[in-house]
Amino acid sequence: MDTVDKIGYEAVIGLEVHAQLQTQSKMFCGCGIVFGAAPNSLTCPVCLGHPGALPVLNRRAVEYAVKMILAVGGEVRKHSIFARKNYFYPDLPKGYQISQYDSPIGLGGSIQIELPEYSRDIELIGIHLEEDAGKSIHPEGGEGETKIDLNRCGVPLLEIVTRPDIRSPQEAHRFLSKLKLIMQYLKICSGDMEKGALRCDANISLRRRGEKSFGTRTELKNLNSFRAVERALAYEIKRHAAILDAGGKVIQETLLWNDDDQKSEAMRGKEESEDYRYFPEPDLIPIKLEQSWIDEIKSDQPELPDARRERLAKEYDITSYDAGVLTGSNELADYFEAVAAQVEDTKRVANWLMVDVLREIHERKLEVGEFFITPNMLAELLCSLESDIISGKMAKEIFREMAASGKSAGAIIEEQDLRQISDSTKLTAVIEEIITQEAIQVQKYREGKRQLFDFFVGQVMKATSGKANPEMVNKLLKEKLDG
Ligand code: ADP
Ligand code: MG
Ligand code: ZN
Repeated sequence: MDTVDKIGYEAVIGLEVHAQLQTQSKMFCGCGIVFGAAPNSLTCPVCLGHPGALPVLNRRAVEYAVKMILAVGGEVRKHSIFARKNYFYPDLPKGYQISQYDSPIGLGGSIQIELPEYSRDIELIGIHLEEDAGKSIHPEGGEGETKIDLNRCGVPLLEIVTRPDIRSPQEAHRFLSKLKLIMQYLKICSGDMEKGALRCDANISLRRRGEKSFGTRTELKNLNSFRAVERALAYEIKRHAAILDAGGKVIQETLLWNDDDQKSEAMRGKEESEDYRYFPEPDLIPIKLEQSWIDEIKSDQPELPDARRERLAKEYDITSYDAGVLTGSNELADYFEAVAAQVEDTKRVANWLMVDVLREIHERKLEVGEFFITPNMLAELLCSLESDIISGKMAKEIFREMAASGKSAGAIIEEQDLRQISDSTKLTAVIEEIITQEAIQVQKYREGKRQLFDFFVGQVMKATSGKANPEMVNKLLKEKLDG
């Protein structure tokens, strides 16, 4: 928000998000949905718009829409209709897109976003169902022909539109990650922006601080990552501010974000809805929903990210921040709970997950579900630590070794004889021997050179090949040197 504060304007941002629903088949035909399938292999007369072919609505797509609307606390409308949005484009063989217009399936709702200093709710205007268009594949470098892949035609999309409630590029980023997380918890969309499963257009305008009315907006398209959304908005804020400062007027238009050159480029003037000649889709009957079906979906809803974060914080006595990290995916939260159920110190489990487990997973570019150190294996390691069989330092080393070899903690402890020495008679004997050998250092220590304490700890560790229980060494050394 810095830039905006400095220039005395407030940013006003509204997002229009398109999310591909992970149904088996398309929205109005039986064609499958497979990312990366051979071009035009997943098509039929319906999704190619052949004359006379009729669409049939996919019930699963409606169910997913209802799941999402319920998850954000919106109103599921029991009666909604499809509309034709007419426009010509090579990747739209029908010449129109089946969408929803003035009678969408979902109204309102909100999504809470968390930032370091505050959290707030972003209100939604609504959620509606529509079908995706195909994809134009332009030649690299501009030479050659543009090709069309119609596999994506008719893939179900949810359009989620926010009120102009967002106030900074960072908030826009948080909103999108939260939206993605909710959809992942619901298992209705992968949220993968790079693969186009989640797409976002951003509307932005500026107004002077304290002003009530909105300024003229521009709309940014072609935002292919969360970072691109943030960068594009920051760029537009600066551009608008410069125009307004110079006494000029922002032109309402649609812009393409060029992430390579880090700038926005004019694409076309803004279409008005009249340009699309919307009218009710004559080939489909209205969507009518029974309350009992909505209730059934409601009772099947999984625990959602906010609820799970709150529960984990309470149940396992960890900070809300830590619980936020651990609920960053359903799989990670499952992993945490599976380990925490077997280990006394749940805060320690949280730390191990956030530091050691996430590091290994990131370094190996794995998904949580692919990580071969299972929750039970980590629990075994942490239980050995808890019962003082190994020290904290050994535990870290054993974990590294588990990650490298796939072996269990127990096997590594046995093989390398890693049990720490917690026998006070044994340790006392070692310490007494060192005190005799290092008489001069002992004298210096007793005369006040206290920093020598670590030297003695080091000597004990050396004599025991690092296996002495560090806490006991500290305690026994203090007794022998000071007592
Ligand atoms: P359109 O008909 O152009 O699609 P909508 O009213 O549906 O316009 O709004 C599209 C998006 O633009 C919404 O997310 C909305 O919040 C946002 N929006 C509307 N007016 C402004 C504005 N002045 N500044 C920023 N965003 C805006
Ligand atoms: Mg709109
Ligand atoms: Zn088809």
